[in-house]
Amino acid sequence: MEHRPYIPGFRPADTGPLSRFLPALEDGVISAWLARQTLTGNWLLDPFGFSPRLVLEAARSGYRVLVTANNPITRFLLETFANPPAESDFIAALADLGAVKKGDERLEGHLQSLYLTPCEKCGQQIQAQAFLWRKGEDVPYGRIYECKHCSDSGERVATEEDIENAKKIAATDTLHRSRAFERVVSLNDEDRVYAEEAIQHYLPRPLYVLTTVINRLDSLNLSPDRKRALTALILLACDAGNTLWAHPAERPRPKQLSTPNQFRENNIWMILEQGISLFAETGGSVAYESWPKKLPESGGICIYEGRLRDLTNEVKKEIPIAAVIASFPRPNQAFWTFSALWAGWLWGKEAVEPYKNALRRRRYDWAWNTTALHAMFNHLNELLAGGVPVFGLLPEPEPLFLTSALSAAQTAGFSLQSVALRTEHDPMQIVWRSAQKIDVAEAGNEVVSDAIHEFLSARGEPAGYLHVHTAGLIALAEADALKQAEFEFDEILRRTQALFESTLKEDERFVHYSTGEGVDTGLWGLSMNDSDAYQESLSDRVEVAIVTFLQKNSNAIYIEIENDLYPRFPGLLTPSKGLIYAVLNSYAEKDGAHWKLREEDVASVRRDEMNSIFNLLEAIGKRLDYQTRQEDKLFLWEENGKPARSFYVLASALVGRSLESADESTVIVIPGGRAALAAYKQLRDPSLAVRLKKYKVVKYRLLRALLEVPILTRETFEEQVASDPVEQSKGQLMMF
Ligand SMILES: [Zn+2]
Repeated sequence: MEHRPYIPGFRPADTGPLSRFLPALEDGVISAWLARQTLTGNWLLDPFGFSPRLVLEAARSGYRVLVTANNPITRFLLETFANPPAESDFIAALADLGAVKKGDERLEGHLQSLYLTPCEKCGQQIQAQAFLWRKGEDVPYGRIYECKHCSDSGERVATEEDIENAKKIAATDTLHRSRAFERVVSLNDEDRVYAEEAIQHYLPRPLYVLTTVINRLDSLNLSPDRKRALTALILLACDAGNTLWAHPAERPRPKQLSTPNQFRENNIWMILEQGISLFAETGGSVAYESWPKKLPESGGICIYEGRLRDLTNEVKKEIPIAAVIASFPRPNQAFWTFSALWAGWLWGKEAVEPYKNALRRRRYDWAWNTTALHAMFNHLNELLAGGVPVFGLLPEPEPLFLTSALSAAQTAGFSLQSVALRTEHDPMQIVWRSAQKIDVAEAGNEVVSDAIHEFLSARGEPAGYLHVHTAGLIALAEADALKQAEFEFDEILRRTQALFESTLKEDERFVHYSTGEGVDTGLWGLSMNDSDAYQESLSDRVEVAIVTFLQKNSNAIYIEIENDLYPRFPGLLTPSKGLIYAVLNSYAEKDGAHWKLREEDVASVRRDEMNSIFNLLEAIGKRLDYQTRQEDKLFLWEENGKPARSFYVLASALVGRSLESADESTVIVIPGGRAALAAYKQLRDPSLAVRLKKYKVVKYRLLRALLEVPILTRETFEEQVASDPVEQSKGQLMMF
């Protein structure tokens, strides 16, 4: 892994709407990363939609960003940031709200009056910025203000008046509270209790203000842009209105839904007013569409209001994702629960429904997080091509967060490319690549045919389809071609089958020994033109191994023979019982459960017998007026210095070896006890049968009988040699 440099940004992005819940990313990082990439196409994917600023910056860099976001709040923020209403719309919308009549007074005045408090220095009634509370108490203990009359400012003790005001609002609380949760869930909903619990984190006054302005949001006749502007301001108020504002606290980033021991109750009307400038700072607009509407080449944001898994198939077909950008979410029970609550307040029950899980779930741990991330990476893997970069930002990194992200990605097949870490206060920058994919239909052909060829060479004899299929399949698995989820599973099965069929039929290196048409019938071997076809066969090697074993172990039981053999011939070369018994029956006899070499097959006896065969060949050759000589295992009959007959004398059934140097003069001589084994080998290997047909094979005893023939001519010799059947066998053969 190469370590790539940390990309610095140019300001800490911990300001702006809802910034305490959004990832604190620096601006400029994602555009710098994108500038360093050579991407094919300009489609990016953000599978979390967790950081509106990340997406916005990428879109502004000229990319088309597909974002999946099922959290209605982050989705709304992204839309608002991408296409912000004009500042004038914010101002007008808030003015319209403030002008609504509440009894005899304007709503603005009514709501502001709830926060009136006397200045400690000049005694004037002024707006408190916040009241201060201790957890569990039913009245405030303090207040914060800036007096516009005498400039007195800061934290002061709550007055009797402040306490009376708080009590007055609390008296009507039950009504507003039930209205507040009825916007989120139905009365008979089993999740009602969760909504009620979440609303416990709102004091009576902010809850009253919020329900009042939210009611007006519905009834005011606003233009779409102004309605969006007012919704955005109320969203800020929803967050400002809860009790999760520890006092004193510098930069609180709450994760758990729990009220601090001391907290601020913010002035909601002030928050609405301040929100105007907060949103106005979010910058110019970029193209913004909802899936499946398409974006212009120049870039923009395409939002999908759902989960990645529901989008996988469509994206795969239509959008080539060049890179993934992601700010990794860390579990945030507070934000996720509030998101469901606020969605209900702002848009009603239907908006909560797809996100209701967030309301229900109380605990999030890192195991949960890893499972969720793993699911996400799996879906990513499905929709991405091979080798697509994933630029991940891990805000507020900590060991378990990192373990969670890395193991989720690794398990889903992503390879880690680079990790850059500055401090625990900075987002970690991580690059992965999606798994390389090999198309079963294209690259698979060569992979499979080479693997089958290699297997058949190693086997040295033909094999049935199951073996051939397995050899090819292993190669596909090694090439990661089976892991890909380009297709549904039935499609993988179909394509793999078609691949094997075309490979076996089209590759001229393979020969099909079968009476049937299907590739799964009969045997597959290598073409005779292929030099690898003449490797020593598996059955020859197994024969040698068994005889060697029996020479060293004179009384072996069957399982001991298998235990010795299988490690020598592992995997797809595992010898069959049929082969083992064919060799045993040829060389050994069974005494109870024990196998031992036949007397005549003990090595020294065999050597003597071979010598006697050479003597026989010499005697017969001389009778037929040939010059004779021995050359290793070959015995030659010559006439006028030219070979007339050459005898290849075997003590084994390793006929394959004899064929290597055979010509038309060759006669292969085997012990009678090997005839059945030689016949068995020809059944296993049709190519051996074909090759052997060209040569004469005789048994020792024929030569012995010939020597006894009183009048032997070259003619009668040829007749006799031609008529010695090698296919003699004792009893039933176990074929494979
Ligand atoms: Zn004052």
